[in-house]
Amino acid sequence: MDNQTPLDKGKPYGPVKVKGAYKVWVDPNLCIGAATCVAVSPKGFALDTQAKAVVLRSVDEDTIENIIEAARACPVAAIFIEDDKGNRIFPK
Ligand code: SF4
Repeated sequence: MDNQTPLDKGKPYGPVKVKGAYKVWVDPNLCIGAATCVAVSPKGFALDTQAKAVVLRSVDEDTIENIIEAARACPVAAIFIEDDKGNRIFPK
């Protein structure tokens, strides 16, 4: 499905630049495929064939607040977010 395309096909788990100011990535070694992030931010994340979350091309259509919410909702804290200065936004 086209809307399930990773933002960066070469780096489906990131890090990718989101909203022009944030770095978002998934640690596939931590991700257990719970898909909570997909439920919270279906525009931001989808599971690949390995049941690992990828950052989608449509991620910029979501708000940064909701993307952070998706990271918070991950049961294993596998989603990482930094601002453009390299400050960790989540997990702290
Ligand atoms: S919520 Fe966390 S463990 Fe579940 S798919 Fe997303 S990144 Fe992976």
